[in-house]
Amino acid sequence: MPTWAKAPDFADQPRTLARVREATATDREDYLRSGLCLIQCGRCGIRVLAKKNSPQHTSIQWTTDGTRQCAALATRAAGEVVESCPDLQASIDSAARDGRLAMPREPGDTNGNRRAG
Ligand SMILES: [Zn+2]
Repeated sequence: MPTWAKAPDFADQPRTLARVREATATDREDYLRSGLCLIQCGRCGIRVLAKKNSPQHTSIQWTTDGTRQCAALATRAAGEVVESCPDLQASIDSAARDGRLAMPREPGDTNGNRRAG
């Protein structure tokens, strides 16, 4: 029997399958168009979509898997809000420095925060 007839290896790994689906080319184009960038946490390896709203503010879109896998989020107390884990924040900062995470064209153009600059 030819082995190619077998189902892909992902078949028994629903999580991996879901991740592959999330990363379809169409989705990726949407991410890019809206300024989102895939960032991987240096510690737990989860991936989130991050977007720079200003040099000081980054919005993060978590996937359901991400909130379960990230150690910082998984260990939070019930009701506690955790924006992100420190390692993920470090990865985002480094991506911003590398230019992988696009910066807004007009930094500081939000809610009168100009004084800080
Ligand atoms: Zn993490």
